[in-house]
Amino acid sequence: MQKTEMLYEGKAKKVYATENPELYIVSYKDDATAFNGLKKGTIAGKGVINNRVTNYMMQMLEKNGVPTHFVEEISDSETVVKKVQIVPLEVIIRNISAGSFSKRYGVEEGIVFEQPTIEFSYKNDDLGDPLINEYHALALKLATREEIDTIKALAFKTNELMKDFFKKINVDLVDFKLEFGRLSDGTIVLADEISPDTCRFWDSRTHEKLDKDRFRRDLGNVEGAYQEMMRRILGE
Ligand code: ADP
Ligand code: UDP
Repeated sequence: MQKTEMLYEGKAKKVYATENPELYIVSYKDDATAFNGLKKGTIAGKGVINNRVTNYMMQMLEKNGVPTHFVEEISDSETVVKKVQIVPLEVIIRNISAGSFSKRYGVEEGIVFEQPTIEFSYKNDDLGDPLINEYHALALKLATREEIDTIKALAFKTNELMKDFFKKINVDLVDFKLEFGRLSDGTIVLADEISPDTCRFWDSRTHEKLDKDRFRRDLGNVEGAYQEMMRRILGE
């Protein structure tokens, strides 16, 4: 599979067209941003880690009945994916309070919820990805009622599969962000990435943070945390 033209350069990945109109190639970068692009940096080795971790998770999910955009890893930092039209919603699932949930509702981090929560942000950088509810998403025609129901069911199923997976490698899955897209026939599939950039991972025993919060909060050893997550996930 060959790249033809670059279609999009985002904060963490580049997206290329290929000779096949139904397939794209995504290329993961070491660039890191936080706070809607206000904080910028690089995390050495992140592109490779996020590519390999995402592909491992996508294949685990696919095997367990969650349809995804994954097709084939073609190098350490590049993957062939099915082309989708991204539904402009960031779907956030939380199992434990942290980050903007704690800030918004004035609670400490680390409260374990009896049931997971779900929330949506409108994926729009100019507006700063504002929080949005299902009625707003319908009013703005971002997705149909059927699509929102499918997305919610797939997001909660993904959470159950990921929680079980991470428990076995001594990681608490605190929260994470998913993106979904439509294939050309309208089928909803899981797209984008699942990595330490998009999930909060806490070591189950030490509660050490093993994710992008080390970059956001200047906690040090960012590269080491990403490497540790890849090591545990891939079993290397
Ligand atoms: P951002 O756009 O937030 O800066 P990235 O740097 O990760 O994010 O860019 C990757 C872009 O590719 C995102 O906008 C994401 O929604 C989009 N994307 C992810 N998977 C697919 C796919 N299978 N088909 C089309 N677009 C995708
Ligand atoms: N997240 C993400 N991209 C975003 C916003 C959030 O991947 O644009 C992830 C983030 O890494 C965390 C979860 O979604 O795992 C919840 O993030 P939160 O709403 O707490 O926001 P933050 O604290 O990152 O501002």
